[in-house]
Amino acid sequence: MTHSAQAARLTLVRGDITSQDVDAVVNAANSGLLGGGGVDGAIHREGGIRILEECRAILVRQGRCPAGEAVITSGGRLKARYVIHAVGPVWQGGEAEEERLLARAYENSLRLALEHGIRTIAFPCISTGAYGFPAERAALIAVTTVREFVDSHGGIHEVRFIVFSEADREIYERLL
Ligand code: ADP
Repeated sequence: MTHSAQAARLTLVRGDITSQDVDAVVNAANSGLLGGGGVDGAIHREGGIRILEECRAILVRQGRCPAGEAVITSGGRLKARYVIHAVGPVWQGGEAEEERLLARAYENSLRLALEHGIRTIAFPCISTGAYGFPAERAALIAVTTVREFVDSHGGIHEVRFIVFSEADREIYERLL
């Protein structure tokens, strides 16, 4: 294990993930990779057709992206150079490995970030919208997983958690 000389900053912003000025924004994608509502819809709307074309090429090459996994494309028209499309689990009551899969979605996103020299990355609250994951449990997993990862791998300078609601802001503020 390599340790970073300087610890990564974990920051919190209430706002729209598509306008974040970071190296990579993470999309709360679905397995089909071809867009959807929420964060996914906003990223494809603001980022433009290029992101969708790259997603389509990935789909042809490797098929659907299962929950817990992530793939990377360019950022299209976004300020961010990259979009990391992470697939969170659909909440099914908690007995279907949802917690492990959510942690893996964060971890695999960070792994891809390191491979691409990404220093600053913004995450939405994956799985807590249409996928129904309880917000507080999801936030705890997000913060714990990210902290563990950046503490044991150098290279990431800032991980920004983007919350949309005041309720989520309060949850993250407590955890951070
Ligand atoms: P999932 O399908 O993984 O549940 P959603 O996109 O439906 O993902 O929602 C995930 C979270 O992102 C929710 O808390 C939602 O309120 C929030 N969200 C929706 N749109 C945006 C946006 N443009 N920027 C940041 N967060 C957003």
